[in-house]
Amino acid sequence: MVPLDLPRLEDLPLARGTRVLVRIDLNVPLKDGKVADDLRITTALPTLGWLREHHASMVIAGHLGRPKGKPDPQYSMAPVAGRLSELLGTEVPLAPAVVGPKVEPFAASLAPGQVLLLENLRFEPGETADDPGFATNLAALADCYVNEAFGASHRSHASIVGPPCVLPNAGGRLLFREVTTLSRLLEPHERPFVAVLGGAKVSDKLGVIDALLQRCDSVLVGGAMMFTFLLAQGYDVGNSLVEPDMVEDCRGLLETGCVRVPTDVVVAQAIVDDAETRVVAASAIPDGWKGLDIGPETAHAFASEIGGAALLLWNGPMGVFEVAPFVAGTRRVAEAVAACPGFTVVGGGDSAAAVRQFGLADRVDHVSTGGGASLEFIEHGDLPGLAALREGKKG
Ligand code: ADP
Ligand code: MG
Repeated sequence: MVPLDLPRLEDLPLARGTRVLVRIDLNVPLKDGKVADDLRITTALPTLGWLREHHASMVIAGHLGRPKGKPDPQYSMAPVAGRLSELLGTEVPLAPAVVGPKVEPFAASLAPGQVLLLENLRFEPGETADDPGFATNLAALADCYVNEAFGASHRSHASIVGPPCVLPNAGGRLLFREVTTLSRLLEPHERPFVAVLGGAKVSDKLGVIDALLQRCDSVLVGGAMMFTFLLAQGYDVGNSLVEPDMVEDCRGLLETGCVRVPTDVVVAQAIVDDAETRVVAASAIPDGWKGLDIGPETAHAFASEIGGAALLLWNGPMGVFEVAPFVAGTRRVAEAVAACPGFTVVGGGDSAAAVRQFGLADRVDHVSTGGGASLEFIEHGDLPGLAALREGKKG
């Protein structure tokens, strides 16, 4: 099946030296002016390699951090150019700007197989504003467009939705892998389908919980969002994070009977490495304490439900896994997901980081590279960036 009927690299009208604008999710973590984790760059290499084998020239575009619509040296793509050069084994020059007369001659003079990296897309206010003029200037740098930025495809930003309207276009290899895999969660045939959701906020994830409840056999809730559910059940939650505005919604979700909320909780008075912790019943969180992880009884129950899943989605850590006293619940869930014989998907930046931190990423069928994008895709079954490819100019 062609997922959502997206155009493929093979559909591009390529000749020697055809210039391809490749949008990549290059929003990598930096440390001391260097790329600290190059996963987002390496996952795009198959697409770049394929284009190079086909003698295309590449104009690569991405964003880094949140510069405020104007050039800001601390968000320059220079470190990314350096790492790309190393990985591709060829010099990748950095353009002096994103678009315009200073960049066009560079793009025009690329030899077949050569690569140019544009400056940070968000140096231009037109990127996040989806300004048609900016999109036109971007498209002017190339003959074709490839979206290899699944993780940014939920945003109607100029570089995602603009060029594919006017240039022959395709989805990259990684984008196809994401869409194909996540599509299995849209109309699932494998039963039981279990979703494990955690992380910081219910408000971020209400839409996806709602959508999942239509398709899942059960939704297991941990992380900070569990406390809004506990509040909806009428329990006191001490100083735990809650979203009072969401209590009504959570009550509605609980009424479906498919949501499982923790029965015990790890509490502490502060989020510190040497915190004094207690395990208490979810109905008995003491005043002045906050819940920071699911308790062992809950972790055990969740792990056994995960073990029986034929299809499993995990998004959002079960606790503040970054701090040692609160890591156990997330680790137990990660181990259960790794051991699950069903098809397993982890989506979400922090949950993916947790799985990698535990060395379990290889034992999960798919660790999505798109945090917000994967959740939106699961919720809506489509994304603005994918729709743009589908409806855009045909090769
Ligand atoms: P993801 O990126 O996997 O979608 P989120 O961004 O929604 O996950 O949430 C991750 C964050 O939630 C982590 O930084 C974690 O520390 C925090 N978190 C999890 N449980 C709690 C809790 N009980 N109290 C406060 N923060 C929590
Ligand atoms: Mg996150």
